[in-house]
Amino acid sequence: MTPIAERVHELAAAADSALPCASEVARLSGPDELALLGELSALRRRVDASIALVASDIERKSAHELGADSLARKAGVRSGAELVQKATGSSLGDAKKAVRVGVMLETAEAVAPVAASDIGSEPRSIDVLSALGGDWSAPIAVATRNGWLSAEIGDRILGGLGKPRDDASTPAYRAAVLRLIADCWEGELTPEDAARTAKALRAVLDRDWAQQNATRLYERRSLKRSVRGDGMVKYDLLVDPLTDAQIWTPIFRHLSPRLGGPRFMTDEERARAEELQQDARSNEQLLADAFTAFLIAGVTASGVFGKYTPTVTIAVTTGDLKNAITADRARQTSAPPGDGPPPAGIAWLDGKPEPLTGAQLITALCDGSIAGVLLDETGQALDATKAERTFSTRQRRAMAIRDGGCLMPGCPLPPDATEAHHVNPWGESPQNHTTETKDGISLCRFHHLNLHNMGGRIERRVSTYWLHWPGKEPTRLVPKHALIAQLRTEGELT
Ligand SMILES: [Zn+2]
Ligand SMILES: [Zn+2]
Repeated sequence: MTPIAERVHELAAAADSALPCASEVARLSGPDELALLGELSALRRRVDASIALVASDIERKSAHELGADSLARKAGVRSGAELVQKATGSSLGDAKKAVRVGVMLETAEAVAPVAASDIGSEPRSIDVLSALGGDWSAPIAVATRNGWLSAEIGDRILGGLGKPRDDASTPAYRAAVLRLIADCWEGELTPEDAARTAKALRAVLDRDWAQQNATRLYERRSLKRSVRGDGMVKYDLLVDPLTDAQIWTPIFRHLSPRLGGPRFMTDEERARAEELQQDARSNEQLLADAFTAFLIAGVTASGVFGKYTPTVTIAVTTGDLKNAITADRARQTSAPPGDGPPPAGIAWLDGKPEPLTGAQLITALCDGSIAGVLLDETGQALDATKAERTFSTRQRRAMAIRDGGCLMPGCPLPPDATEAHHVNPWGESPQNHTTETKDGISLCRFHHLNLHNMGGRIERRVSTYWLHWPGKEPTRLVPKHALIAQLRTEGELT
């Protein structure tokens, strides 16, 4: 055994007898426990520092250029970090970090050597760091070695800043590093904060990198769609920061109280937030509903695909359609028809083996953006959904603006994310065979389906709409558009 190994072996034996067991820890008071944690962490940092020094040395002795003499190659692994990973039992990421921290500590020793026993005794000082020799990163190395920055923060700062492109930019990097260290101390930055700030600084110090980085991120955008065995479809979407801001900002704003956003200021906003808090959907379900509602509404709205908006069709047999309509009406009157509930209607999307429920069918046909195709028992196509029941794109937009978003109380979704619900029950043709905007209201996809599923009904009284929910008093649906509030205040509307 080498003298170093012998020393460390003795240390480990001493540690074994010194380190506490569970029952000793349990007897400690709170403050004593915290003090112990501090001591142990300091010990761990010293051990981690030694591991890092060994790791960086192993990495150096594993360089590719060494050929057959490379330590890694002799051990049959690809890199020094992999060798460290095996020896320490850590993750490869941690092993690489140990190598990087080791390099930092070597730098510190070269720039400002101190005895190991002095480390941590000197008070932290920007002046000391400013006076150091060495390259631009020396202040980070020395601050980390002295315990003035955690190894995690030192490593994240170096990673975030990257390297100066040329000698001319080195002084600017050094000044930025010193400012950043001062920020870490004053602002008690977390490693994540420090990494973010360092990355932002890099963009300022190196404009070319900033351009290339933004382009690189944009180039990595991708969307993968995979159909799973159970019929669910997985979308794996990767977007650049700008696209994310455009997608996420409106969604976050509308679901804000559930996602931990800022508190609302007005009574109306607070009331809506309150209702959203009570929504039984999980945050993931709410997000999925909002995200898909925006997408679907965007496709349906004119402009994106022009005249050639691809239409989704749902095929259904006459028998199933009848069952679905009967069930829809039965839910609305909350009285089972004659001989108990009819068999549940089902319907089919093109190319999908998973059936839709009768309620999904009725909801889709109600909005009119999905075409229904009716087939008789022999498979003969009889009819497509009648045109007079469906709303035109212009009518849908007018309705959406009139309602100011989904009309369900507490629903945060804006006009762009709604579809149309036909107020007249399915199968009851309007007298004049034309559909007017007053025949419909705007509901988000979720609340529309929920209305049909739960047997809710909408009643129009002149220019107001009332929600009839089974077992509840009718409630008036209050439009969310400010213009409607103005007209009501001015007495134009009843
Ligand atoms: Zn509907
Ligand atoms: Zn809604």
